[in-house]
Amino acid sequence: FLPPKLFLETVEQAPVAISITDPAARILYVNQAFESLTGYHRDEVIGHNESMLSSRSTPIRIYQELWETIQARQVWQGTLVNHKKNKEEYLAELVISPVLTAKGEIGYYLGMHRDITAVH
Ligand code: FAD
Repeated sequence: FLPPKLFLETVEQAPVAISITDPAARILYVNQAFESLTGYHRDEVIGHNESMLSSRSTPIRIYQELWETIQARQVWQGTLVNHKKNKEEYLAELVISPVLTAKGEIGYYLGMHRDITAVH
């Protein structure tokens, strides 16, 4: 038995930027690492599409492949060019996975990313 408090404390303090969205990629939740990496407070991102992080220099075909993959209920992994609140660009190594409801429908998406700018 794992109480909700344990999940929340763990996800809040996970050393990777975590966001949970609705099926249209509107942000429902972000953790502390997401706030410190992007520079946005959670109140500034909740309700917005994840595209607010896009630096607009990632080729559209990458997004098409991303959506085809996650809508087919598979895990997508890749690198996107994001920007922070202060407009600084960074390379985001991202994993997006669908979260299914009991009925087997896509209820949420889980996004996890880290800044890999320094290793390139
Ligand atoms: P758009 O013109 O809106 O989309 C480009 C193409 O993507 C479209 O032609 C279409 O093929 C596809 N597409 C976009 N939205 C949908 C949709 N709702 N359903 C089906 N196909 C669609 N993007 C980032 O740039 N950085 C991130 O860190 C990031 N994290 C994400 C995390 C999660 C959990 C999810 C679900 C998505 C994330 N995205 C991220 C993708 C983001 O939601 C946008 O799709 C992307 O930024 C492109 O947005 P746009 O407005 O530039 O382009």
